Amino acid sequence: MNKSLRKPLIAGNWKMNKTPSEAAALVEELKAAIGRQTDVAVAVCPPFTALDRVGPLLEGTTIALGAQNMYSEASGAFTGEVSAAMLRELFVGYVILGHSERRTIFLELDGQINKKVLFALNSKLKPILCVGETLAEREAGQTLTVVGRQVVEGLRGVSPTQAESVVIAYEPVWAIGTGKVATTAQAQEAHAFIRKELAKLWGQNVADKVRILYGGSMKPANAGELLAQSDIDGGLIGGASLEAASFVSLVEAARK
Ligand code: PEP
Repeated sequence: MNKSLRKPLIAGNWKMNKTPSEAAALVEELKAAIGRQTDVAVAVCPPFTALDRVGPLLEGTTIALGAQNMYSEASGAFTGEVSAAMLRELFVGYVILGHSERRTIFLELDGQINKKVLFALNSKLKPILCVGETLAEREAGQTLTVVGRQVVEGLRGVSPTQAESVVIAYEPVWAIGTGKVATTAQAQEAHAFIRKELAKLWGQNVADKVRILYGGSMKPANAGELLAQSDIDGGLIGGASLEAASFVSLVEAARK
């Protein structure tokens, strides 16, 4: 449905990997290979400690900078947290929110994630809201209920005007870092369902402009088929974003 309205986005989630100097080395390789192409939107999301080093290296390239989390308050006594303004000053454009590792290890709930989404949008950061079911939820036939709840609660209060800055990442938890990739049919079903939910929230015209990424063991070998699906608009890439060759191949796959 109107896939041409959406430029694909390939975003690398480096998680807790890469020191600042390792991050700089990877970015130099990425710049040389894909720093000027404009067919695909590309973002890298290093750890907070590498943002200050990577941001200036990306200046003048078409690769955007993202962060992996942020807090939903402007400033104050929130030990260990990072604010939107801190990220903005380092030229961060995207912020991953509600990643399943944040939900399961750090016990983040939909309501907290929603506050972060709203704060990010009001601070001119583009949230990449992650949703996805666990294996137990899939086996219990609850996939669409769980994903629907995470989408609706995560996006509560987001206006149709702000909506175009939102990116959704569908990441089945059982496929993250496990080597198990969702079948194209499973992924497309979830993506089409998410787009229907977005249409209920904001209308079909807006929903058709929102990018829905797939995440979960996406690799050069399986990316082509996934990215060819009508509602899959790119990828949120973990493991395969840590080496230039595989990340560049994924960007090439999204160009086709
Ligand atoms: C992720 O954590 O967002 C992810 C998709 O990881 P991986 O590609 O390693 O499964």
